[in-house]
Amino acid sequence: LSASDLVEAHRICVCVRKRPLNKQEVNKKEIDVVSVPGKGAVLVHEPKQKVDLTKYLDNQVFQFDYCFDETSTNDLVYRFTAKPLVQSIFEGAMATCFAYGQTGSGKTHTMGGDFTGKLQNSSKGIYALAAQDVFALLSQRRYASLDLCPYVSFFEIYNGKVYDLLNKKAKLRVLEDDRQQVQVVGLQEEYVSSAEEVIKMIEMGSTCRTSGQTSANANSSRSHAVLQIALRCSDRAKTLHGKFSLVDLAGNERGTDVSCNDRSTLVETAEINRSLLALKECIRSLGRNSDHIPFRMSTLTKVLRDSFIGEKSRTCMIAMVSPGMASCDYTMNTLRYADSELMR
Ligand code: ADP
Ligand code: MG
Repeated sequence: LSASDLVEAHRICVCVRKRPLNKQEVNKKEIDVVSVPGKGAVLVHEPKQKVDLTKYLDNQVFQFDYCFDETSTNDLVYRFTAKPLVQSIFEGAMATCFAYGQTGSGKTHTMGGDFTGKLQNSSKGIYALAAQDVFALLSQRRYASLDLCPYVSFFEIYNGKVYDLLNKKAKLRVLEDDRQQVQVVGLQEEYVSSAEEVIKMIEMGSTCRTSGQTSANANSSRSHAVLQIALRCSDRAKTLHGKFSLVDLAGNERGTDVSCNDRSTLVETAEINRSLLALKECIRSLGRNSDHIPFRMSTLTKVLRDSFIGEKSRTCMIAMVSPGMASCDYTMNTLRYADSELMR
């Protein structure tokens, strides 16, 4: 398979990753209701009750391009999802990789890895692994002659507003010109010279992401984080050659919890639902080669507009699921959303 064949084969790829039960869940004797019987399928065993109160398991099967069980490492997930997309941007593609799922299902673990402690291979996430491969490919002979320069930007979308994580969370405007070109005005795009430099910037940006609001964790789960690695030619105009957007999406749980029905939470939830719906619609249109891409439906799809148009768009969606019975409804929602039948 040549590099461009590989790219062609991965126009849209939809995967599922199941995380292991965590310590608390094991202590609470939480039941694991998700199984991955093979590479291409995931099963949910939903405990149900008949009218005569006999209990049974309602088994539901979903099929995806790849399903990763709880033993899979970030490295393995990376190799089957984002890695071919890194190659594609050297071939001039606009690539996007999404981490989707409920809060606590492993989106940030998969994308950002674990920054507490020393960076070992096992704790690196897709951000770091992709950055490493960008620099590895830059020095390969067949790409070195293109004379490409890598640039990084990192921002968050919260309640439909864009905040620059590389510039003290500056609030930025999104503008669309008459040629439908979308621009995030004033977004910092930093030249980078090594993978370590990218990783440092992400660490700093992530700190910026989670600090500030009341509850650190809650805040980050209500926003989308977007890391972009752009390859630009070294001409004067710095012409864009290819771009990879890596998106750690907001938690997809619907705010149906009655205990948090204050206005700001409702507005937040409505905005998240709208943007995730818009994203699904855009990916579907992309898969059908449709001329009409409804990218104006949300800020998220607006800023990713370039990724949904043109011959050279590549998308990978990784749907994260928690294994526990308590998360069963959320897991079903996530799998239904990502169901490849809908996506293609
Ligand atoms: P999210 O970003 O979707 O809210 P996190 O990535 O923060 O979820 O994951 C929640 C917790 O579960 C974290 O403590 C994380 O380290 C752990 N975790 C997630 N995925 C895995 C995994 N595949 N293996 C081990 N631990 C994981
Ligand atoms: Mg997270």
